[in-house]
Parts: sequence; structure tokens; C-alpha cells
Amino acid sequence: MSTQVMVDVHGVHKSFGPLEVLRGVDLQVRTGEVTVILGPSGSGKSTLLRSINHLEKLNRGYISIDGELIGYRRSGSRLHELKEREVLRQRTHIGFVFQNFNLFPHLTVLDNIIEAPIAALRRPRQEAVRQAERLLARVGLADKANAYPRQLSGGQQQRVAIARALALEPKVLLFDEPTSALDPELVGEVLDVIKDLARAGTTMIVVTHEIGFAREVADTVVFMDGGVIVEQGPPSELLDRPQHERTRAFLSKVL
Ligand code: ADP
Ligand code: MG
Repeated sequence: MSTQVMVDVHGVHKSFGPLEVLRGVDLQVRTGEVTVILGPSGSGKSTLLRSINHLEKLNRGYISIDGELIGYRRSGSRLHELKEREVLRQRTHIGFVFQNFNLFPHLTVLDNIIEAPIAALRRPRQEAVRQAERLLARVGLADKANAYPRQLSGGQQQRVAIARALALEPKVLLFDEPTSALDPELVGEVLDVIKDLARAGTTMIVVTHEIGFAREVADTVVFMDGGVIVEQGPPSELLDRPQHERTRAFLSKVL
């Protein structure tokens, strides 16, 4: 198994005014591995994912992906924020799948997927279309290329959102509660797509409350509470033999 670190979160602190939401987070995700983040509402999970994508500025610490600092450049001992254009370039390497799909409602499924490869990577349209068709087949939606998001179920929309994220061939894929907005009967089809990606060796960080999914797919499960990682480990350890009372209390509520 590869031991190369793809995502390195180092001593990250993040405050919103007086509210300290991340209070020193260290996390390493290795290439090809799946990290599942669990934790109660308000524990800082979304803020951590948004920080990895530099949708949030950090107060302290740094995040690097594939050895490259995200959102900043180092100059001596100081970090300077990158220009927006540079941040946008970095974001093309980081796929993000949101709870609410965030598809463009006025674009067809196909156009949703080819938009970023054409605009951000300057890929020729024909090539982008062929890739989009491959990706739609991969998420089981080959017949929906010309549909509009509103014509799809939530599960189908989320699978399109995953195909769209994959179209940029990201180094890491971040999921923020990808099934929380779905009717229960649609959760499985989305988790199945994420499981396929895991088997194919996609590096992923998945915030979810789906404990069964974590047990089956995660290489590492992380439990966050109060802006810190309370503990982390393989699913068999964290889920079955949690070391901390806070982890036990949380698991007893969601299991
Ligand atoms: P989680 O995803 O674990 O539920 P979040 O990262 O969304 O937690 O939020 C952690 C805390 O930070 C919450 O108290 C939330 O209200 C607060 N928070 C998140 N974003 C902002 C923001 N932009 N401004 C102020 N407070 C925020
Ligand atoms: Mg959240």
C-alpha cells in the first residue's frame, strides 16, 4: 500500500470572530485511502473540509495537498495568501461534493459536467463530452446526459455531482454529508458510487453519519468534537473500541 501523504492538515486553527471552530487539527490522508470524519453537529467538520479547499482562511497552521501549500505561499516563516486565480487553479485538484448537490439548474447534466473541464482546464469540447459520457456511465446515469437537474431524483442529482467533481480528475475528493439531504431509499445508490471510487483507489475524505459505510469503506475513521480530533483509527478500533468517552457517547447515539 502506498504510504505517500496526499493531504496534510497541520496545526490548523480557524475562528469566526470570537468563536474558535478549529482548535488545532492535525490530519494526514494517504494516497488512495478513504478517511471518514464523524462528529456531532457544530464540531467543525464542514469548516475543516472548506479549509482544505481554501474556502476558509486559516488563523494558524497550514494545509498541503500533494506537497503543495493550499491557499498560501511561504516566504521565510510567514504565509501569504495566494491570489484568487492561483486558489482557483489549486481548487481544480480538489473535488468537492456538497450535501445539496449544487448543480447548475439551468444546465443539462452533460453541460454541468463539461463546464469546468472546458472553462478551467481548457479541454476541447469533444474530449470533455466523451469524458462526461464515460463518467455518467460510471455513476449509472448514461441515459440522463440531456436531462435537467430538476428532472432527476436527489440520488441521481448527487451522482451527477460526483461525476462533475471527477471530471477535473482531482487529487482528492471531499464529501460533506453527501447523503444527508436524500430520502432514505436513495442513500444506497450514492454510497455505492462512493464505494466504487474507493475500490478504484480514489483518495477521499467523507463527512457522514453513515456508520455502516464507514465500517465498510474507511481506512481511517476520525472522530471530531469541539473543533479537535478526539481520536482516529481504523474502523475496527474506533467504532468497536473507542478510547474516549466523548466518542463512546456519540457512537451510542448514532449506532
Ligand atoms: P459541522 O459541519 O461539524 O456541523 P461546522 O464546521 O459547520 O460544523 O460549524 C462549526 C461551528 O462554526 C458552528 O458553531 C457554526 O455555527 C460555526 N460557523 C461555521 N461557519 C461559520 C461562519 N461562516 N460564520 C460564523 N460561524 C460559523
Ligand atoms: Mg457540516
